[in-house]
Amino acid sequence: MAEATSPQTKRGAALHNPFAAGSDSESEREALARRSGIREVVFGVQDGLLTTMGLTTGVATATAGAAVAHTTILIAGLAGALAGMVSMGTGAYLAGCAERDLKRAAIHKERGELESQPLAEHEEMVGILTDRGVPAATAEELSRSLAQYPQLWEETHLEKELGISSNPHESPVRDGLVMALTFLIGAVIPIVPYIVTSGLDAVVGSLLLSAVVLVGVGVGKAAVIGQKLALGGTQVLGVGTAAALAGYVLGVLLPHVFGLRLPPA
Ligand SMILES: [Zn+2]
Repeated sequence: MAEATSPQTKRGAALHNPFAAGSDSESEREALARRSGIREVVFGVQDGLLTTMGLTTGVATATAGAAVAHTTILIAGLAGALAGMVSMGTGAYLAGCAERDLKRAAIHKERGELESQPLAEHEEMVGILTDRGVPAATAEELSRSLAQYPQLWEETHLEKELGISSNPHESPVRDGLVMALTFLIGAVIPIVPYIVTSGLDAVVGSLLLSAVVLVGVGVGKAAVIGQKLALGGTQVLGVGTAAALAGYVLGVLLPHVFGLRLPPA
């Protein structure tokens, strides 16, 4: 009698294991979501900073020595920061909406198929399992077992078949706001020295402040994704140097190309 019940208990435990493991992977998922959230923030700040630093450096170079230089740099920087904030924020919002709608439609379709053609869906799951090397008999048994738990059954189909989570936590509004806010925070950094001081001091101050923040952002990003800290810092600093150089070169070239010369101070 004891021998007969023992394997049953074992089998029962094995069936319930996916749920036990579920709570573990839940916290891992949360950790992953947190990491990708930090990545979002880092990229937003980096984007805003690089864009505005290139812009202010370019305008500062092009208007060097002109009477209206300071005002022009400030207006260009602030306009660029606000335009970028709106554009990046709405872009992230719309992309989030599209992704959410796509996922919802896929989930809706799969749910319908699971209800209307359970046998075909069972065969499908057996196929997915045997494709992954599960022997046919075990695949049959596994699929039947999974089908007894509707929630798990649906999740397994969505994840194995479509590679999506059955419970998408996406919030396009949140995505848009995070992008807009982080872009603006990054964009303000290269402008601050132009508010505090002017002339070459402001240009140098803007580049130095931007470089310091960029290194911080690069190191922070490296820490989050498990990259070498020095590599993360130099990578971002390299991109920053390229953006500043591009702004400088354009600032030198464009006034010549368009024959523009602002009245000197
Ligand atoms: Zn399916």
